[in-house]
Amino acid sequence: MEAMFPDVVVIGGGIIGACCAYYLSQEGLNVHLVERGGIASGCSGACQFGIGHINTGIGRDLTVASGRLYASLAEQLPLDIEYDRTGNIYIADSPKGMRALERTAQLVQSAGMRCHLLRGKELLDVEPYLSPELVGGLFFPDDAKVQPILATLAFVQAAKEKRATIQTFTEVTGIELSASKTVAAVHTTNGRIPTKIIVNAAGAWSASIGRMVGIEIPIVPRKGHIVVTEPVPPMIRTYLLDASYFEAVEEDRQALAVAMVLGQTRSGNILLGSSRQFAGFDRSVDHEVIHAMITRCLRFLPALANIHAIRIYAGLRPYTPDLLPIIDEADEVPGFYIAAGHEGEGITMGPITGKLISQMITGQELDLPVEALSLSRFAQADSSVRV
Ligand SMILES: Cc1cc2nc3c(=O)[nH]c(=O)nc-3n(C[C@H](O)[C@H](O)[C@H](O)COP(=O)(O)OP(=O)(O)OC[C@H]3O[C@@H](n4cnc5c(N)ncnc54)[C@H](O)[C@@H]3O)c2cc1C
Repeated sequence: MEAMFPDVVVIGGGIIGACCAYYLSQEGLNVHLVERGGIASGCSGACQFGIGHINTGIGRDLTVASGRLYASLAEQLPLDIEYDRTGNIYIADSPKGMRALERTAQLVQSAGMRCHLLRGKELLDVEPYLSPELVGGLFFPDDAKVQPILATLAFVQAAKEKRATIQTFTEVTGIELSASKTVAAVHTTNGRIPTKIIVNAAGAWSASIGRMVGIEIPIVPRKGHIVVTEPVPPMIRTYLLDASYFEAVEEDRQALAVAMVLGQTRSGNILLGSSRQFAGFDRSVDHEVIHAMITRCLRFLPALANIHAIRIYAGLRPYTPDLLPIIDEADEVPGFYIAAGHEGEGITMGPITGKLISQMITGQELDLPVEALSLSRFAQADSSVRV
């Protein structure tokens, strides 16, 4: 009798690998997920918890589609993922920042997204602990929050219930190709897994998996810190972001970019962010960065000064030069799919990424066009990356 080989091997047990395993196993495919550490031991276990949106282009389509998927998945997944649709507010601390929010409001409303401006006291009516000196905000009622580790575990658990194999503490060390350069097997620290299809969902480490099949994937780590406070009674109802947040995301020439991001979990802990810097694969805490982050957050929420921090961590965002993920089958290696490079939106975009990958592999009609997410888009562009 012929042994049962997996239809698909997913490399990486973060939110993206978990969502790919989930959607593929829902389609009846025999899925085998391999993770070097524990589930969510990479960036998906070292981040914030906003289900947000991007304002324009395919990024907007991905985030809006994924946000809708979360709303129904929260009801179906086997674990409570702490999904709360409380909305996000982008906050301006200067008239210039407010004018930028007004322009954003016009832009996104004309694309059919719901949002409304909050001026002066209207902002304090929604979030009374904010500084009265802030100018105003832009509220997106459809944005949400989720607990990323629980979400990753829930997708993995649901995949297991559809007979997926989840192999943790197992590192992928090589990929075997056939004579015709198609995928043949995955080599791991726990043996060889024959398969014809691989999904590279290794986040910031995806480039090293690409090199195993001879392709260059322009993804590098972009470090970000988070400070976690002790649990406190409810202080932040929504999820708060600096009006300059997207400038910080797009600022790729500076060594360091800092923007306020604040949210409170169901347990009462407040998570303070955020920072962006290129520091290789180093995840150690940089105290100067933490000082800059806390200073920025205190400007928006002065009451933080009386709350203790209990934990600080850093995660590695998978960064691509155009800040969009790669969701594609590599032209050079049939059967080798890439689902990586989600930078600061991977928790948000997890479900739509998993669904698109599953639709590509099973030959179904795609929910969204993926041409703009191809690996080959970097072949023409200047794909110089920083490490
Ligand atoms: C400070 C910070 C705040 C953030 N806030 C948000 C937010 O509010 N909302 C949002 O949507 N996103 C946010 N993000 C971004 C989000 O966390 C990432 O985009 C997302 O976690 C990436 O998921 P991933 O599955 O691609 O990568 P990861 O979670 O890093 O998973 C990749 C996995 O691959 C495994 N791996 C690597 N190499 C191998 C190998 N050879 N063999 C086996 N396994 C391997 C790793 O161990 C890892 O577990 C934030 C990120 C940071 C750093």
